[in-house]
Amino acid sequence: MNPVGKPGKTGILMPVEVALARLLETADAARIVERERLPLAQAQGRVLADDLLSTLDLPPWPNSAMDGYALRVADWTGEPLSVSQKIFAGQAPVALEPGTCARIFTGAPVPAGADCVEMQENAEVQADGRVRFSEKLSPEQNIRPQGQETTVGELILPAGTVLGPIELGLAASLGCAELEVIRKVRVAVLSTGDELVEPGQALGPGQIYNSNRVLLCSWLQRLGCEVIDAGILPDDLDATRARLGGLKDVDLILSTGGVSVGEADFLGIALREEGELSLWKLAIKPGKPLTFGHFRGVPVIGLPGNPASTLVTFALLARPYLLRLQGVEQVEPLKIQVPAGFDWPVAGNRREYLRGRLENGRAVIYKNQSSGVLRSAAWADGLVEVLEDRTLVAGDAVYFIALSEVLG
Ligand code: AMP
Ligand code: MG
Repeated sequence: MNPVGKPGKTGILMPVEVALARLLETADAARIVERERLPLAQAQGRVLADDLLSTLDLPPWPNSAMDGYALRVADWTGEPLSVSQKIFAGQAPVALEPGTCARIFTGAPVPAGADCVEMQENAEVQADGRVRFSEKLSPEQNIRPQGQETTVGELILPAGTVLGPIELGLAASLGCAELEVIRKVRVAVLSTGDELVEPGQALGPGQIYNSNRVLLCSWLQRLGCEVIDAGILPDDLDATRARLGGLKDVDLILSTGGVSVGEADFLGIALREEGELSLWKLAIKPGKPLTFGHFRGVPVIGLPGNPASTLVTFALLARPYLLRLQGVEQVEPLKIQVPAGFDWPVAGNRREYLRGRLENGRAVIYKNQSSGVLRSAAWADGLVEVLEDRTLVAGDAVYFIALSEVLG
């Protein structure tokens, strides 16, 4: 694939949207079709495999939106009405006796023959038990009609919907106990680099703790993926080949580090030998170098190793790829426009995703935007997008992507 985009200091840079389009094209061609049937309580975060059609009218019958009295408007002449029945939610009423009203409670079926519910606050019960209404009554008031929410056969949730608490609640309201969902995406997570040590061990000279592993593994779990933690890969070609070869039955190998075209790019060598490698230089900051290819047919996405770069490229590129693999259409996070609470005097040649938060309706940014500083993202609530070739003064509009949009 030829690089597309504009010249950067180190060659042509690929715009973020071009990279995303290529990833999504590949994901579309590799969509997962295997499915499983899960009880609602286990389906949270999974993707619906089939359209969900309503098998019910909701509500199934007209019901009362208030605690009060059901009556026929035409029966109210100003003369108090006697109460002929009492209807609680969960009960089946008899037809309303003409010339009377029924005591009714919220959610209870409106009896046949009644065309209005008056709230109890506007009703006065007389000493003889009959009821007088103080306000004007109109037909249909305080009645939730049958099928108000949905009618039989309507499309409620399309295939490809990510199931969250609201979608699961909706499915339950239609009586579904189980749903067909796409099987979990199996993702192998690899950290690369001789300098990496797992937390809990002592740090030797030149070593740092591996932060990307838990960052990605826990994030993938939130996205409903099955995570195969493939550990730390040393900077060594034989070890790289052996470890990649051992990763069978996965939909994606997701690695971090080792993509800066340094001498220690053993992942790149292994992919060139036994698969395919595209090394993209993205017009994105943090996160310029991104590897995309396959090893013996297993797709590989290699994210840059600096933790803030890992975070941004995972959020904007790998996450959409994983969602699309499961058939999700809308894979890009919602962006909202807000005024910048900072100046940006020097235009960059890459699109910046600054770690920032909203304060008094303005986007402010963490003081240190180095790609090695993960603390910036912990401080932040979102990513502030500054387009390439742009300068800003405070008050100019920027896009803000809440981290909550991409974390789940
Ligand atoms: P690399 O792409 O391998 O050159 O890594 C770029 C930078 O990210 C280097 O400073 C690495 O030490 C750092 N890095 C790579 N992988 C990790 C990781 N898993 N956790 C923390 N830092 C990392
Ligand atoms: Mg490295």
